[in-house]
Amino acid sequence: MRWSYRLGRFFGIDVRVHITFLLMVAWFALAQRSQGFGAVMVSALFMLVLFAFVVMHEYGHALMARRFGVRTRGITLYPIGGVALLESMPKTPRQQILVAIAGPAVNFVLAGAIALAAYALGSDVLHPNLDPDAGTGALLGVLFNANMMLGLFNLLPALPMDGGRVLRAALAMRMPPVRATRMAAKVAKVLAVLMAGYGLANEQPMLGLIALFVWFVSNAEVRAAEQQARETETQVVGTPPWAEHQPRGFSGWGAARSTHARTAGMVVEVVEGPGGPEVRVVRAR
Ligand SMILES: [Zn+2]
Repeated sequence: MRWSYRLGRFFGIDVRVHITFLLMVAWFALAQRSQGFGAVMVSALFMLVLFAFVVMHEYGHALMARRFGVRTRGITLYPIGGVALLESMPKTPRQQILVAIAGPAVNFVLAGAIALAAYALGSDVLHPNLDPDAGTGALLGVLFNANMMLGLFNLLPALPMDGGRVLRAALAMRMPPVRATRMAAKVAKVLAVLMAGYGLANEQPMLGLIALFVWFVSNAEVRAAEQQARETETQVVGTPPWAEHQPRGFSGWGAARSTHARTAGMVVEVVEGPGGPEVRVVRAR
């Protein structure tokens, strides 16, 4: 059985929908069935518009990643949101931050466009007339809110949400990536517990689900970062002849012992050898 179905391909990236997402749309729509067929259709339509906003959010990440040479395998929609599967992490923390905020930025731009459209139609999205008979004004108010919520919620600093990725990248500017990921995952777990508590107190099961998702996926992010660190662990490829001629007891060695000068995949490393310090040329595997 297939779990996800291809909806289409835009900008060279496949958009897929996971079967659980379709079930959720059906469930929410059918929950309105006592209100009549019209309410079911309106509810399904609203979910599809919301889903279009989520897809655009994911394209924000994917197209920003492409600017940095990172390709996207596809965008898949789950009940909890969308995922743009990047082939690799953008290289520098700065690029990671730009890719992470590009998603929420799309929602804020959409919200701005909706607010302008509402203003042009003589309505105010911040104080919409939510009377169902108010028509377009009420609809634009709801669409504005949906985008603001999508943008702001994703900026919560809870890895693997966008805000958590920004936090991790900011930490990675000051420490090794594995430590940055572990620290960001700890923050994510604290937020997950708060979110679950709030969800329970306010009978919002969706928040509980998102909290579970944050808890487990932040763990997975830590494992992925540890794996990544192991794969790029250095492998000794040789000792340059000039290393043997370095004077022993040279005061610079001690400081240099832990520093790796990395150029084009080559790493020059100073290690404590049996006969004193040794300089080795190592290469990332
Ligand atoms: Zn995002």
